[in-house]
Amino acid sequence: MSREKLNQLGIDLPLFPTTTVGSLPKPAYLVKARAEFGKQKISRASLEKYEKQATEFWMRTQDDLGIDVLVDGQMARGDAVAYFAEQMDGFEMERAGDSSRKGHSVKPVITAEVRARRPMTVDGWRFAQGLTRRPVKAVLTGPYTLMDESVNEHYADRRAACLALAREIRRETEALVEAGAKIIQLDEPAVSRRPEELALGIEAMHVVTDGLPVYFIAHLCRGPYEKIYPDMLRIPVDNFDVETSTDGLEVLGLFGKSSYTKDLSFGVVDVQSPRVEDPQVIEKRLRQALDVLPRASLWVDPDCGLGTRSVDEAVGKLSAMVTAARSLRKSGNPSFF
Ligand SMILES: [Zn+2]
Repeated sequence: MSREKLNQLGIDLPLFPTTTVGSLPKPAYLVKARAEFGKQKISRASLEKYEKQATEFWMRTQDDLGIDVLVDGQMARGDAVAYFAEQMDGFEMERAGDSSRKGHSVKPVITAEVRARRPMTVDGWRFAQGLTRRPVKAVLTGPYTLMDESVNEHYADRRAACLALAREIRRETEALVEAGAKIIQLDEPAVSRRPEELALGIEAMHVVTDGLPVYFIAHLCRGPYEKIYPDMLRIPVDNFDVETSTDGLEVLGLFGKSSYTKDLSFGVVDVQSPRVEDPQVIEKRLRQALDVLPRASLWVDPDCGLGTRSVDEAVGKLSAMVTAARSLRKSGNPSFF
């Protein structure tokens, strides 16, 4: 089903397409440049020069590794929520003298109608796509997660805040489509963390995705999937990206019990551990997934963003992942055909 959609979009991918979740490690020179920019020691223009250099490095590296669907690696992003909140009117990032919000993780505060001032990710996506012939997946933080990780002081309730953010993420999605993006991922870790509000997560995703010519992926991160499955299948996307290797692939048990109907980006690499997995271990995990899923629906990626790993660790893990996917492509698995 989703293969047909990819074909209609003109995207030809091998079996077991490989991709990454979104963030990749920032090289040391960029970490330093970001710190210096924070202290106003360098200009935004020089910071952007380093961001582009790092993006070029990662695009080339992903191409060389043979990854099928690339990402820009989020060299310009720090926090996944603040990055979007800072580009929208209606958010205040921090208010001096408010003791209730002290602490190291200050949530953005919604104090007025939210409105993106201009497209937030399109230039970055276009730059990255210009560096490769392979498709580049655009990655946005989803409306439910933006709402859940902000403080709402403007809208009547959580639903109103969430739907207002969904409208803005829809505008961003449309701008990406106009620029040529065909695969877009919405990061919605909060949807799986808050089973009691799944209906709202689904409603917001309809606002973002309905009627657009895009292959949509939702990164749902880490469970508890047993509380939202199979209801989560009503989230209107083509592919769920789930973290699986840290919980011993438990999610496969659920998907086996009640028929799984979408494509699955199957996390096969633990992003918390610096240790590079053996390709054979990864291949074994993929074979376990194939006990439950049709071959055509399985995608291969790390559990989550690799931004917290070192460059060498991330390259090692991605390389092992590509080796495993290629090995699996070569070997037949007749049980599904
Ligand atoms: Zn994640």
